[in-house]
Amino acid sequence: MSTTAVPGPLPTGTRSTETHCPYCALQCGMTLTAGDRPATLVPADFPVNRSGLCSKGWSAAELLDHPERLLRPLVRAVPGDRTSPLVEASWDEALDRVVEAIGRTQERYGRDAVGCFGGGGLTNEQAYQFGKFARVALRTSAIDYNGRFCMSSAAGAANRAFGLDRGMPFPLSDVAAADVVVLVGSNPADTMPPAMQYFDEGRARGALHVVVDPRRTATARNAGLHLQPLPGTDLALANGLLHVALAEGLVDEAYVAARTTGFDDVRAGVAAYWPDRVERLTGVPVEDQRRAVFALARAPRAIVLTARGAEQHRSGTDTAQAWINLALALGLPGRPGSGWGTVTGQGNGQGGREHGQKADQLPGYRLLSDPAARAHVAGVWGVDPGDLPQPGRSAFELLDSLGTDGGVRTLLVLASNVAVSAPDARRVLSRLGDLDFLAVSDFFLSETAELADVVLPSAMWAEESGTMTNLEGRVIRRRRALDPPVGVRDDLQLLAELAGRLGAGHLFSADPETVFAELGRASAGGTADYSGITYRRIDDEQGVFWPCPATGDGEERHPGTPRLFTERFATPDGRARFLRVEHVEAHERPDADYPYVLTTGRVLAQYQSGTQTRRSRSLQLIAPTPRAELHPDLARQLGIGPDDVVELATRRGRARFHAAVTDAIRPDVVFAPFHWGGGSSANALTDADALDPTSKMPAFKVCAVAVVRIGGPAERIPAPPTAGQPRPSPHRRQPTREAHQPSRRRTATVKSTPRFLQGVYPITGEGLSKPGPVDPALRYTVPSGRSAQALYFRGGNSTGELVYVLLVRDGEPMRWFPIGARSDTHVPLRVVEDLTGGTVVELHAAAPEGVLGEVVVDLGLVEV
Ligand code: SF4
Repeated sequence: MSTTAVPGPLPTGTRSTETHCPYCALQCGMTLTAGDRPATLVPADFPVNRSGLCSKGWSAAELLDHPERLLRPLVRAVPGDRTSPLVEASWDEALDRVVEAIGRTQERYGRDAVGCFGGGGLTNEQAYQFGKFARVALRTSAIDYNGRFCMSSAAGAANRAFGLDRGMPFPLSDVAAADVVVLVGSNPADTMPPAMQYFDEGRARGALHVVVDPRRTATARNAGLHLQPLPGTDLALANGLLHVALAEGLVDEAYVAARTTGFDDVRAGVAAYWPDRVERLTGVPVEDQRRAVFALARAPRAIVLTARGAEQHRSGTDTAQAWINLALALGLPGRPGSGWGTVTGQGNGQGGREHGQKADQLPGYRLLSDPAARAHVAGVWGVDPGDLPQPGRSAFELLDSLGTDGGVRTLLVLASNVAVSAPDARRVLSRLGDLDFLAVSDFFLSETAELADVVLPSAMWAEESGTMTNLEGRVIRRRRALDPPVGVRDDLQLLAELAGRLGAGHLFSADPETVFAELGRASAGGTADYSGITYRRIDDEQGVFWPCPATGDGEERHPGTPRLFTERFATPDGRARFLRVEHVEAHERPDADYPYVLTTGRVLAQYQSGTQTRRSRSLQLIAPTPRAELHPDLARQLGIGPDDVVELATRRGRARFHAAVTDAIRPDVVFAPFHWGGGSSANALTDADALDPTSKMPAFKVCAVAVVRIGGPAERIPAPPTAGQPRPSPHRRQPTREAHQPSRRRTATVKSTPRFLQGVYPITGEGLSKPGPVDPALRYTVPSGRSAQALYFRGGNSTGELVYVLLVRDGEPMRWFPIGARSDTHVPLRVVEDLTGGTVVELHAAAPEGVLGEVVVDLGLVEV
C-alpha cells in the first residue's frame, strides 16, 4: 500500500451519477447530475426510499458550492495562540503543524496524549482508516466517535441479548408486512419521512401502529395508539407490558424454551411491575398498556422498534434490553415480518461502529481486548499485535479528559462538531480550550473548527467514493459525482498523508476500493464480516447485507444476510439471552429550582449539529430558528405566548429559544431541538454526569429544567448573558491506578450519618397484592461515593385490617413488614447489607381494597 494511490480526476462534461443522500441512516438513493454546471439531484428508485426524499435530501446539492465552504487549510496567525485569527495556509504548512504537535505531545506526555474523535458520517473506509491510523500510525488508545452519543445503548443491548448488533436485523420492507409495529422513542415521520411509506403500506392493510413518545409527534398522530410516558420511564413500561403478558398467558413458552435462556429471572423481576404501579411510574393508563400488549401478542407478525428516545438515558442499554425481553417473550425475533430492531440515526451510524473507530473495537466488530482478534487484525495490518494499544476511554470520558494529566493534549477531529453535539456542551467547550493543540477536518467552519489551531478543508459526500451501511445493515456505494474544489482533500487522503509524515505511509492507501478490500480482510471471521462484499457486487445487487463472508474458489458466493436469527442467534449456544433489568430514576429529577423535565431531539428540516443544514437556504425557510415546545397549560402558567423568546436553564447552562406552544407535549415536559449552538445550544443544558454503565451513553433525554419568558417574538434570539451562565464543572479526577496501602492509623474522616424515612401517612387500599408508593418523602437515594445500611423498621396501623409496608430497593421488593389491625411492629434489620451510592430505597404500602386509614412508618438507616 502507498499514499500515492489517490483516485484521479473525473472526466470533463456533464454526467449523472447514482449515489445516496449525505444525511440520515435511511441513505436514500438519488441521481446527481454535475460536471459543467451546478449539481442538481432527483430521487432514485432505490429499494429503500423507492423514489422518495425528504427536504434535507432534496436540498443536499445546495451546499456543494456554498460560499462558506472551506477551500484552503487554515492555521492560527500566531502558532499556539488561539486568540490570533485563522489565516489561510498551504497543505504542507498545515500538516507540518499537525505532525509537529503530535510529536511534541507524544514525546512529552506519551502516546495516549494524542487523541482522535470521529463521526457517524464517515464512510466505512474512512472510519476503518481512522481506527487503524490511531492504533498503527499514532499507537494511541484514545479514539472514539460521536456515534457513542447515538447508537451505543441499543448496540450494547443487542450484543448482550443476540451476540450481534445490527440496527435492524431485517429489511425495512418487513415493517410493511408487520400487523403490529411498536415504535418506542422514534419519530420517522419527521426524521426520515420516506420510511413512512412502509408504515403507510402496513396501515393500508389494517396494521396497528403503537407509538411510545412523550410528544404527540407526526408519527404518533398517524398511529392507532399513542402511549405518552414521562421521559425516562420506557423501561418500566416494557417491564409492565411483560408483566401483563405473563399474567394473561400471552408468552410464547415454546419459543422461550427452544430459543432463549434466562427467562425465569426476568419472569421474577417483572412481577414487581403490576399495571397500576406502572401507570403511576409512567403515566400510561392501564387499559392502554393492556391494549398494546394484547395487540402485540395476538398479531401474526409484530415488530418492536426502539430509538434514541428510549436509548439516550443513563439506563439506555437496560431500556433497550427491556423491550428485547418483551419481544423475546412474545417469540418475535427471527420470524419474517417480526422482531426487535433499533432505528439508526446518523448516515453511517451502523458502519461507523463496526470498523474500529470505537475505543474498544477492531474491524469486523471484534474486541480490542481479545488476543485472537488483535492477532488477526494485526496480521492484516502488517504490525505486531503487541504494538496495538489496549481499549481507551469512551467518547464523553475522552472529551472530559482533554487537557488533564493523563488525558488527551492534542486532538484530531474528523466529521464531528462536538461543541454542539456533545452533552453538557459548555463543559466540553471549556475542555477543548484546555487542549495544547486541536486540529479539525470539516467542510465548514463549525463551532468546533472555530476553536482549532489547524482547520483542514474536506471533501463533501458527492466528491468522494466509499461505502456506507444503512439502518438495515445494507452496505451501499457512495459514488463520486464531481471532483472536490481545488485545495480540498477527502479524509481518506488526509489520513494516508498524515500516516506518511508519521513514518507509516507504506501501510495506508488513499484509494477507497483498496481500503475497502483491506477492511474486508480485517473483518473476515468477525461478527460484521464484509469479506465477501465487493464494489461490483454492491453495484449489481443494489447493496449487500452483512454478514457476507468470502467463500473459497469454486464455492457458491455467500448471498449476504437480509434477515438475521432465523435459525440461531449469534451467541455461543445459539440462544438469545433474557436479562433482568430494573427501572431506575433519572439522574436528575425536577425540584423547586428546576421544576420541569427537559427532553431533546431532532426536527424535520435539520440534521445533527446543523453544520450543514443550518447553512441551507431552503431548509432555513422551513426551520429558521430553534423552537422549544411547551404545553399550553405550562405556557399560560408562565405567561408565555407563541413565538416569545424563552430561556431554559439547567444546572449546567442557559439557552434561549422561540416558544412553540403545543398540546402535543406533556404539561410537565419541555422539548428543545439540539441542532443549534451558541446561545441556543440545547446541549449546553443536557446532563453528562451519569453515563450508562454499559454504553457510556449520557442522559440526553432527561434533565431538570426551569423556564422563563425573556420577551416577545423577535426575529433574532439574543444569547443569554455570559455573566448569568453557571461555570462549567471542573475536571473530574481520574481514578488512580495505584493500589491502596493499608494503614493502622485511626481516621477521623469517616463520618456516619443517621437517616430516617418516617412520618404518619394516609393510606388507601387497592388490594394486599398491590403495594404502591405512599409519599415522595419516603424515598432516599444513597449519595454517590457513600454507602448505607438499613438498621430497623417500626410501623403502626390505624385501620381495622392487616396492612403491609414494603421496603423497595431500586424498584425491587426487599422486605415485607406485616402490621396487624390497629397494631404496631418493630423489626431489627440485622442482615448487614451495603446499599451503595446511587441505590434508591423507598417504602411502599398495601392494604385490602377500599380500606382507608393511616400508617406510621419509621425506617432507620445509617449512611457512611
Ligand atoms: S435525510 Fe434521510 S430520509 Fe431524508 S433524504 Fe436523506 S436519507 Fe432520505
